[in-house]
Amino acid sequence: MPERSTRIRALLGGEADAWEVFYKARAMKAAGQPVLELTIGEHDTRTDPAILDAMHAAARAGHTGYAVVPGIAALRDRIAARLSAASGLALGRENVLVTPGGQAALFAAHHAALDEGDTGLLIDPYYATYPGTIRAVGARPVRVAARPGDGFQPRGEDILAAARATGARSLLINSPNNPTGAVYTAETMDGIARAAAEADLWVISDEVYDTQVWHGWHLPFAGRPGMAERTLTVGSMSKSHAMTGSRIGWVAGPAEAIADLVQLATHTTYGVPGYIQDAALFALDLGPEVEAAVAEPFRRRRDLVLDRIGRQQVLGAVPPDGAMYAMIDVRRTGMSGTEFAEALLAERLVAVMPGESFGTAAAGHVRVALTLPDAQFAEALDRLIGFAAGRAAAA
Ligand code: PMP
Repeated sequence: MPERSTRIRALLGGEADAWEVFYKARAMKAAGQPVLELTIGEHDTRTDPAILDAMHAAARAGHTGYAVVPGIAALRDRIAARLSAASGLALGRENVLVTPGGQAALFAAHHAALDEGDTGLLIDPYYATYPGTIRAVGARPVRVAARPGDGFQPRGEDILAAARATGARSLLINSPNNPTGAVYTAETMDGIARAAAEADLWVISDEVYDTQVWHGWHLPFAGRPGMAERTLTVGSMSKSHAMTGSRIGWVAGPAEAIADLVQLATHTTYGVPGYIQDAALFALDLGPEVEAAVAEPFRRRRDLVLDRIGRQQVLGAVPPDGAMYAMIDVRRTGMSGTEFAEALLAERLVAVMPGESFGTAAAGHVRVALTLPDAQFAEALDRLIGFAAGRAAAA
């Protein structure tokens, strides 16, 4: 075999694969063990049958050939209208590229912002694919810590200092946040905006959880004064409409940057299947009630977590204001997040993600995905709390 490229071999940057506990849990389940899995961000409900009917009808009507690469006009218009309504901007289809999911949009956005060898900033804790996505475009990821004591809200001055120290050209933010559940406040957003303007950064704003807010409001970053020209917004149908497997999302931003990314799409994905796009358009037209219904179970289980955590002394939680996760502080057990997650899986058959999978700022935490039906979720939570109490007593 000829030598593989340095870039592909270095994609993980020598870090452990963040998904190890998840793989182990899946292998145990496949071997017949009754593992309760609270790992990845996937709903316990499936895509609404009405959306699947629309998908089927579109395919049967012949929308199975190559779709236009930037995305079908009606869907780009619909996404532009949605983003305009939320941000107050006047966006059109020229501001939107339809992508095969938010992940492809993140990759594309970094391509638009960074050259080989450049530095891209990201906020730690972060969604596990972020550093690899930045490395995948040949750039260097640099982390800026958000502190548990700040409710995981990043500070503008930290971002500016990191940008100045590294000469960074981009900043990746995510609100509502995976893994912390933080929803950035207006103050946080304005601090980020000042740093971005001062250091002339592209801001890549991952807003895939925009329909899942339990406290406060989702603020689209592009709508902050002066930010539209330097913001690439990432969106997705995965979380809002339980369409994770359909692989459809978007990147939105200045028309020139989107035109560049249409070229990238032409040379990589060649677009998104037409019948999936038709289904996404149908789904968006179902309106906010459907999105609220998809989000509602996570709100319920988030409240359950806070209630149960409030009744004991060992574990802590930063109350998640959005998204489908809760970060649980396990430091009083004397264990790291990784040790806790591995032992919990082995001893109590509950799978959660170690905070260390999401960076150093989340060390000593585990991320619980709010993704099992309520009764099973409560059972998993009881096992987790019981396990922590046992460990703390023994420590
Ligand atoms: N951003 C964040 C923060 C996520 O959590 C995820 C998926 N878990 C994605 C992007 C990518 O989602 P998708 O590619 O399914 O749209």
